[in-house]
Amino acid sequence: MNSSEKVALVTGGARGIGAAIVRQLAAEGISVAFTYSKSTEQAEALAASVSGASGVACLAIRADVRKMEEVAAAVDQIKAAHDRIDILVNNAGIVRDWPLITLEESDWHDVVDTNLSGAFNACKRIVPLMLRQRSGVIVNISSVAGLVGVPGQINYSATKAGLIGMTRSLARECASRNIRVNAVAPGFIRTEMTEGLSDSLKEASLERIPLKRFGEAKDVAALTCFLVSDAASYITGGVFVVDGGLTA
Ligand code: NDP
Repeated sequence: MNSSEKVALVTGGARGIGAAIVRQLAAEGISVAFTYSKSTEQAEALAASVSGASGVACLAIRADVRKMEEVAAAVDQIKAAHDRIDILVNNAGIVRDWPLITLEESDWHDVVDTNLSGAFNACKRIVPLMLRQRSGVIVNISSVAGLVGVPGQINYSATKAGLIGMTRSLARECASRNIRVNAVAPGFIRTEMTEGLSDSLKEASLERIPLKRFGEAKDVAALTCFLVSDAASYITGGVFVVDGGLTA
């Protein structure tokens, strides 16, 4: 298939890493739809600028990944426009960082519902379509927090490790139908998610990164776009870090 015939869905694509992935997929000629939950203005501006710059279709759809019915409606909207979905990037994610002792039950459930169940919801709706197509590629945006322990992030780490388990199992389940599933595990990437961290925490993190700089959203987008491309056609069930050497 040519890139121009492919259709992608990126969850949480209005800003941060998701927006960088939307931009890069569109720059490669792929039609892109993305979901957002709160960032309406950013979503509308991104869809307009991506369509204008690349000339490909770019659809912004309000859909909370925690709600199966909203995910289902988003998928129906994309099917109505394009009749297929070739690429799914499960990117939507949140943090609610507290040590276990102060972590509220709601902080646990919010993070699990968004980061892990959100990815399940999208896969549940889109994998049947890919099975019928006999092709498809999924990338789950995990985190190095799913590979190594991070104090104050037991909820977040659990979801990101969970995404890795889901990736490996789904890759085995769907390989015979030409569906590939991989995970990307970013380290410290400069987005709104990390912007609010204290200067002392940022300095301490920088100290531990061998490349001595934080990553950019486009670094994650580049790896993700490689994994969804035909150049990665023999790669499935893998977990790929993009972390400046943090976990080396
Ligand atoms: P941001 O906080 O900048 O963006 C988060 C995105 O997720 C937004 O687009 C937001 O959309 C969306 N989102 C959150 N909740 C929902 C929901 N319920 N339904 C739909 N969309 C939702 O984070 P990043 O761009 O940094 O993170 C993107 C992904 O990368 C996340 O999964 C994160 O865990 C992961 N990651 C980030 C790292 C980093 O250092 N930044 C490191 C490792 C992994 P809206 O604003 O519309 O709610």
